[in-house]
Amino acid sequence: MPRETERQGQKSEIAVSVSELKICDLCGWLNLVSNKECFVCGWHGHFEHDPDVVRAAVELAVRRHGRLELQHLTDLRTYRSTPPTMRMRLLGFWRRVRVWWSTFPWRRR
Ligand SMILES: [Zn+2]
Repeated sequence: MPRETERQGQKSEIAVSVSELKICDLCGWLNLVSNKECFVCGWHGHFEHDPDVVRAAVELAVRRHGRLELQHLTDLRTYRSTPPTMRMRLLGFWRRVRVWWSTFPWRRR
């Protein structure tokens, strides 16, 4: 069942866009934009929001950790998961709609 393992692999990873991330000016670590202060060093001054810089930092983190997980971006103990949970729900909903949609026989013509 290669499909099943694929789905499970995706579940443990997170899909964050560059616009949801920022970089700590002090220690250079990736943070979620929703983090009030850097979860690594506690910095709460200026953060880098340049999409190119953030993208490069994401690539670096993926290279370092193999993949990017939520725990690399924020402190899970303080993380408020309301908006992403809502988004995950929506994603699940759309996935179901797509499966339902693909079962229509007239689409295969
Ligand atoms: Zn920091």
